Amino acid sequence: MKTIGLLGGMSWESTVGYYRGINEGVKKALGGLHSAKIAMYSVDFEPIEKLQTKGDWDGAARLLTAAAQNVEAAGADFLLICTNTMHKVASQVENSIKIPLLHIADATAEVLVHEGIKTVGLLGTAFTMEQEFYKGRLKEKYGLNVVVPNKEDRQIVHGIIYKELCFGKIKAESKAEYLRIIDLLANQGAEAVILGCTEIGMLVNQDDSKVKLIDTTAIHAEKAVKYAI
Ligand code: GLU
Repeated sequence: MKTIGLLGGMSWESTVGYYRGINEGVKKALGGLHSAKIAMYSVDFEPIEKLQTKGDWDGAARLLTAAAQNVEAAGADFLLICTNTMHKVASQVENSIKIPLLHIADATAEVLVHEGIKTVGLLGTAFTMEQEFYKGRLKEKYGLNVVVPNKEDRQIVHGIIYKELCFGKIKAESKAEYLRIIDLLANQGAEAVILGCTEIGMLVNQDDSKVKLIDTTAIHAEKAVKYAI
């Protein structure tokens, strides 16, 4: 079994989901007392969030490349960046290490392509919903059409991530807002909706909606398990 490298802490609430998902996946695959071999570096999220807000992505890339090099030095055979948003600096991180990076958008797109989905809704931070580093990869590399909520709803989705989910707060009214926005995306032609932020699975899951939901945390963790064993 390979050692899985995790670059976590963005936020730590969602990294808990990775840790659990990966260990459950290894247990299911190998049985007995098997558990995952993991080398994790969990960052302090506050300075990273400040750099995001300032648009200082080079500064954020410097922090994450240093952390990724620590994960590699700790013996990881490959790396996951446990957040969709920080894949904004995935190429800098990838170029700073010798081990492979399993990109979260690739893992997600592979599931969509396998399921024959052509048009997909995307929920995530404003950075993920509005910039090209994520949507562009889905469109150019996998030929997917991506629809996002309108500006007002993007602000709602973004605000709930940073003000509630990153603090572990789960509110019924926020869940209702997400489900409303998911339905709107389906009405715009989305055959499925990507939960493109690693905290969203804490708020909504497949039992809450008739629309097919694609949880990036679960998919990324599952891909890591397959790659490791
Ligand atoms: N975990 C989130 C994501 O998947 C947001 C926090 C961050 O900005 O990294 O995008």
